[in-house]
Amino acid sequence: MNPDFVSPLEQPAAFEVSKGSLLRKAIPSASGASKPFLIAGPCSAETPAQFDLTLNGLVPLGPDLIRAGIWKPRTRPNRFEGVGVEGLRWVREMTRERNLLLAVEVAQPAQAEAALKFEVDVVWIGARTTVNPFLVDELGKVLASSPLPVMIKNPINPDLELWLGAVERLEVLGLHDLALVHRGFSPFEPSPYRNMPQWEIPIELRRRRPDLPMYCDPSHITGDARLVPEFAQIALDLCYDGWMFEVHHNPSHAWSDPDQQLTPDQLVRTLNGLKLRKNDLHDPSELSGLSELRQEVDHLDHELLDLLSRRLQLSHRLGEIKKDFDLPILQPRRWEQILNTRTSAGHSMGLDSSFLFKWLQLMHQESIRRQLEVYRSDSAKTP
Ligand code: PEP
Ligand code: MN
Repeated sequence: MNPDFVSPLEQPAAFEVSKGSLLRKAIPSASGASKPFLIAGPCSAETPAQFDLTLNGLVPLGPDLIRAGIWKPRTRPNRFEGVGVEGLRWVREMTRERNLLLAVEVAQPAQAEAALKFEVDVVWIGARTTVNPFLVDELGKVLASSPLPVMIKNPINPDLELWLGAVERLEVLGLHDLALVHRGFSPFEPSPYRNMPQWEIPIELRRRRPDLPMYCDPSHITGDARLVPEFAQIALDLCYDGWMFEVHHNPSHAWSDPDQQLTPDQLVRTLNGLKLRKNDLHDPSELSGLSELRQEVDHLDHELLDLLSRRLQLSHRLGEIKKDFDLPILQPRRWEQILNTRTSAGHSMGLDSSFLFKWLQLMHQESIRRQLEVYRSDSAKTP
């Protein structure tokens, strides 16, 4: 078994959200819908004029936090790498003049020191830094001296433990006003999005750490301003606590990430177009249709479990026969046939092919694991 597997049977520990946290979860309102945490601002602070125009467009929205990249971790060299510490001075002044809270990305201890010196309100650790435990430690040591609220973006690779590990490192150092930012994972093949959302990773992380606010960064996930509204809605539908949007007064002229930034007006339209979801239904009559369907789901799930258990017991018996005939466990032609027949049958029943493929692979893996057990226990008997 995967040593990192945390069974749902082990309830996540009861964490308390620390009082006075700046980074908050969505606030439930009287209507039942929640007020998400809104972070917005340019990918990079470029010039005082650009920042001024962008902030003016954002002020009417009442953002909870302004983001601004000061040091930019570019994939290739000789690109714009941020205005640096000099920019931090005017970014801080301009946000303060408007009573706005400011967040910047820090990736090196010297940047964290500068963030403290200029009294930035929040810092975030970017995807390329979360991957590096040494660096997270070094940053944490500097930030804990204040201590500052920190947002931790997911690592570029889809590794939940590494993401959680970064959080824990900061906690060990005494940082407790923390939040997670889901910005997607580098795709290894051509992909419709700049970064693959792999929603199951943030969903599992939230199950394990329900105390931490989880924000969605639809700009870096999609890489495409046209898709940002759709992903902002998905985030609401998946109970995220807020978003981090990249916003620029003139995105096509942005010095970094021009394709994914919204104008302030586009952000207004995006937010107005969103459907806030209720956390819970309070009126039991509203729930009746839902609970009947849930009962049916419970019943079908039990049937599926029963079928799965019987199906895998057969795999075990197949293993015994293969062993008796000295056959290899893996039978590639049979596996190919199972894949083809089940995929096409399932497809004609309205099941999604990639779901079918994943499920068949999982069942095959388990079947092989059981048969290996049969082979191993038999060979143990061999002198
Ligand atoms: C950013 O927020 O501008 C940034 C560089 O993000 P990420 O670390 O998600 O790539
Ligand atoms: Mn960016």
